[in-house]
Amino acid sequence: MTNSPELPSDVKELDEWQRALRAQFPIVTAHPDLAYLDSAATAQKPRPVLDAVQTYLTTSNANAGRGTYPWANRTTALVEQTRDLVREFLDDPAPERSAVHFTSGTTEGLRTVARDWLPNFLADGDEIVVPVADHRANIDPWTETQRLLARQGVHVRVVAMPYQQASGDYDHTALARLAGPRTRFVAVTHVHHVYGGDMNVHRIRGAVGPDAVICLDAAQSVGHLPVSVAGLDVDFVAFSGHKALALPGTGAVWARQARGPAFVPGGWSGTPNTVGIVSLAAALDWLRAAGTDRIERWTVALAARLTDGLRDLDAYEVVGCRTSLAADSPVQRRRGIVTFRHRDIRSGDLGFILFSHGFMVRCDHHCQGSAGERSESVRVSLHVHNTVEEIERLLSVLGALG
Ligand code: PLP
Repeated sequence: MTNSPELPSDVKELDEWQRALRAQFPIVTAHPDLAYLDSAATAQKPRPVLDAVQTYLTTSNANAGRGTYPWANRTTALVEQTRDLVREFLDDPAPERSAVHFTSGTTEGLRTVARDWLPNFLADGDEIVVPVADHRANIDPWTETQRLLARQGVHVRVVAMPYQQASGDYDHTALARLAGPRTRFVAVTHVHHVYGGDMNVHRIRGAVGPDAVICLDAAQSVGHLPVSVAGLDVDFVAFSGHKALALPGTGAVWARQARGPAFVPGGWSGTPNTVGIVSLAAALDWLRAAGTDRIERWTVALAARLTDGLRDLDAYEVVGCRTSLAADSPVQRRRGIVTFRHRDIRSGDLGFILFSHGFMVRCDHHCQGSAGERSESVRVSLHVHNTVEEIERLLSVLGALG
């Protein structure tokens, strides 16, 4: 499958780079007739990640933090080195102070913060801001903590994050009005998993002031674009390793350890997911070598092409960010996710039709919170192995449906 001749001019120079990377995804190259367009759910794995797992299991598989023989020591070192790698990958300016805790994904990361840290931080009368139109993984843990604290006589108010209706962006001006001295914790999302936009989280700190703790759901940004905790001034970052090219059942939560009590995930957690952690290290190395800035440029260009193409088709409504990706536009921050509906065809049915043409997309409510979209939609989510040809073919199939 090729990119030319339709390659958008701004990413033409990435053509060869992209072909070389695509060739490293065995599941993708084995199925040239299929297009995997569901990387927001979980990502495909490049060969070096698979090789790292195979090598580890056939050379030094052991438990971590227990035995004293070489395989065990090596496993312990791999786990600790991967913690450092996560810090580096997130551009951590003070790695000696931060904590990295491995999880099965973003949901468990956010839930660990909610369960093991938040109750020690909040006091009666405090407020927390919850992004009620984001992924449920970034809503339910916070309201569960609220209920848990209420049973102990500590009453915390949940403030619903305000949104701009048309784009699905946060309304930072309204948030600044809502936030007061008792607003102590703010949960936000980096890239929205339905609306596809970068949520401008660098503006959240300005809206909520210097003391509030900000917890970032980075499920759709880590592995897709450069994420710098130095630049964002957030306190927690939770992400899914499996969406960043590592094995299923992997993820991490990074904690700055600067505001509030230390983040010390509670209890005896038993044997870590050593194979998953090995795969995460290999995935982060691969992403670094590939360049997350270039991966971002590539997927953003494909998403822009799809958004523009859909806008030309009367039967489709694009959900969330609607304009294409002019860098100077105040609204266009669409990343590699495009969600849409057909005027007459149910999204679930559209999913079946698209698969009959070889396209694997997601068609449902996408686990969005109760303040999110009322009806189902089709989501296309991209990674570096996707091609311009796939997008053009998708647009022609969609166009033929009227
Ligand atoms: N947050 C967002 C924005 C997501 O898109 C997802 C995954 O779909 C999650 C959280 C949950 O991630 P995981 O399934 O790895 O726990």
